[in-house]
Amino acid sequence: MTARIIDGKAFAAILRESVAEHVSHLKQTHEITPGLAVVLVGDDPASQVYVRSKGKQTVEVGMHSYEYKLPADTSEADLLALIEQLNLDPSVHGILVQLPLPQHIDEALVINAIDPAKDVDGFHISNAGLLATGQQAMVPCTPLGCLMMLREYCGNLAGLNAVVIGRSNIVGKPMAQLLLRESCTVTVVHSRTRNLPDILSGADIVVAAVGRPLFVQAEWIKKGATVIDVGINRIDQGDGTTRLVGDVDYDAAKEVAGAITPVPGGVGPMTIACLLANTVTACCRAHSLPEPK
Ligand code: NDP
Repeated sequence: MTARIIDGKAFAAILRESVAEHVSHLKQTHEITPGLAVVLVGDDPASQVYVRSKGKQTVEVGMHSYEYKLPADTSEADLLALIEQLNLDPSVHGILVQLPLPQHIDEALVINAIDPAKDVDGFHISNAGLLATGQQAMVPCTPLGCLMMLREYCGNLAGLNAVVIGRSNIVGKPMAQLLLRESCTVTVVHSRTRNLPDILSGADIVVAAVGRPLFVQAEWIKKGATVIDVGINRIDQGDGTTRLVGDVDYDAAKEVAGAITPVPGGVGPMTIACLLANTVTACCRAHSLPEPK
């Protein structure tokens, strides 16, 4: 039987709608409009597309969007000064610095300069620590979106075997923390892991965040498993055109999995929707108001 396809696009639309409702409530009842500041340094084309899309969706749900586009040769000191200004600005509830930053800027220094309460990407060391110790944190958007979809498709996750492929700070590690928080039995595998296919064969949940096109083979997946494909890889089709594929061999895997996210249209749309949700959460926390559920 073919897997259920997890429609991240539809899911993200529902989440955006609920964000928009909460924004409207904040405006009408409290005269507060959540604001998200996005900072882009340089002219990386993919980053420009992401930033444009974030700004557009921020406005669509009724929030204020502040975009800062800085030249590639912006100094680290100037970027830190802008972040300090945004930290102090009460109309800005969320700050996102688009990664990657140019080589001459220390990424960790910049991320950790953001007020943790406004760190809607959840990359600040305080938020990573809060998440790891089971306390209230800003949770990174991509793993948060994955978790929302998993909850919807698997229901209660307690006791399930989850394997996360990848251990990056932005996807793999926070994903593992979130699954642990849900009482899954979590295994994290990476490039030095031995017998990865054996480990995957026992997984009820697979989250692939590898960055290698079609890496996960259908034969490695347990029948009926739920597969979340975070990967976004552009491959050459050999005829001068390219196409986006995930980290999972989707066509074969959907014949084995119980449910699976497609690429595109799976995790990607949920990431921006979660960014909007995190901004509303940050705004509510800043004003000691009830947060969206
Ligand atoms: P990183 O490159 O930071 O991490 C990749 C991870 O995969 C590393 O932990 C690496 O192991 C592991 N890995 C690499 N090769 C292998 C292998 N052969 N076997 C097992 N593990 C391996 O990537 P990110 O976490 O930033 O992103 C992963 C993917 O997700 C990318 O395709 C990225 O584009 C996509 N992405 C998508 C988002 C979305 O919104 N949908 C958001 C963010 C990322 P090691 O640590 O040992 O090197």
